[in-house]
Amino acid sequence: MTDCIFCKIIAGEIPSQKVYEDERVYAFRDIAPQAPQHILVVPKAHISSAADVTEENAGLVGACFAAITLIAKAQGLDSGFRVITNCGEDGGQTVYHLHFHILGGRPLGANLL
Ligand code: AMP
Repeated sequence: MTDCIFCKIIAGEIPSQKVYEDERVYAFRDIAPQAPQHILVVPKAHISSAADVTEENAGLVGACFAAITLIAKAQGLDSGFRVITNCGEDGGQTVYHLHFHILGGRPLGANLL
């Protein structure tokens, strides 16, 4: 999608701090970190949000979660982490390319969600 900031990051048109990449998934550091470790994991194919996951593209969500496991291990998040996806206006989504926030590096408490 030409006007999607995360598509531009995936294409290398906008710089990012890459932490992981495979055929289907790209991951990079959030520009405004909310925790010592704040990484965004995105499918390379454009899916607008969690509300647009279908039987056909759900494999990309699985690929994102497989990447999340590898990233958490590689980043040393051995004592735990949180995965969040914001969906739509009420969910607080600001970038309409499906992404999973990995947050960790400190105790996050019970009330972030
Ligand atoms: P959300 O509000 O769930 O849609 O999350 C969007 C996230 O993208 C926010 O946490 C932003 O800080 C982050 N973000 C926006 N632009 C960039 C960028 N160019 N590089 C890295 N992270 C970004």
